[in-house]
Amino acid sequence: MNWYDYKKRLEQKYNIEILDSDEEIYKKYKPNTGGAAVGIILGLCIILIAFIGLGTGELFLDQYTLIPLFFGFCFIISGANDATKKVDNAEKNFINEIRNRRAQQTLQMKKTTQTPIPQVPTPQIPTPQVPTPQPLNNEIPSSEIKKPVLATECPVCHSLIAIGSNPCPICGTPLKWT
Ligand SMILES: [Zn+2]
Repeated sequence: MNWYDYKKRLEQKYNIEILDSDEEIYKKYKPNTGGAAVGIILGLCIILIAFIGLGTGELFLDQYTLIPLFFGFCFIISGANDATKKVDNAEKNFINEIRNRRAQQTLQMKKTTQTPIPQVPTPQIPTPQVPTPQPLNNEIPSSEIKKPVLATECPVCHSLIAIGSNPCPICGTPLKWT
């Protein structure tokens, strides 16, 4: 049976999707049925010889032919049994690995879909600045009005200084205001 047919049979039997590339995994589990085949061939040979002997009249159906025939059948049955078991186990191991792989793939796919997509910064469109309405009556804010400072002359250096300055900001003489 070629891989393609075998794959199809397994897919139907186990209800699982098998890829062409999974053949490599199957090769890992492929059973060695050589021993079982030898048993089957040996059994067939014994039976064949017995039948030829019986057919040609050289052998008679007595204990000397019945016992080898019995063992011949035993070889065939046990060989076939052994081969079937090996193939069955290989199949199960293979399917188990395929199921595990599919489960991991699904898990990985879930993980990748859950990771947030990096946010592309949206370009900032500058909002037009609405000019604040200026007072129409051209009033100057009261804080901007400079109060006139009364000035006088320093009695020592005769510089013009503000009334109440102590000491004189120019010559440093302590001043006393009344
Ligand atoms: Zn002065």
